[in-house]
Amino acid sequence: MAAQDDETEPDPVTLVATCRTSGCPSQDQPFVGTYYANAEPPLYRGLCMGCGQPISDLATPLSGPVS
Ligand SMILES: [Zn+2]
Repeated sequence: MAAQDDETEPDPVTLVATCRTSGCPSQDQPFVGTYYANAEPPLYRGLCMGCGQPISDLATPLSGPVS
């Protein structure tokens, strides 16, 4: 018997993250990752692997920026 759960698992989405931190080794280099929606905005959050700063520039590959 499966456990009952009122909350549904969010579907992961593929987003293109681009770090805009000045001086970051990964600055302006978009990379694709899998993200899960948050309960509170910002809906998607990413951390840059180059500088460790939050990435605010997240876009879907097909439909443009998300917020
Ligand atoms: Zn960075």
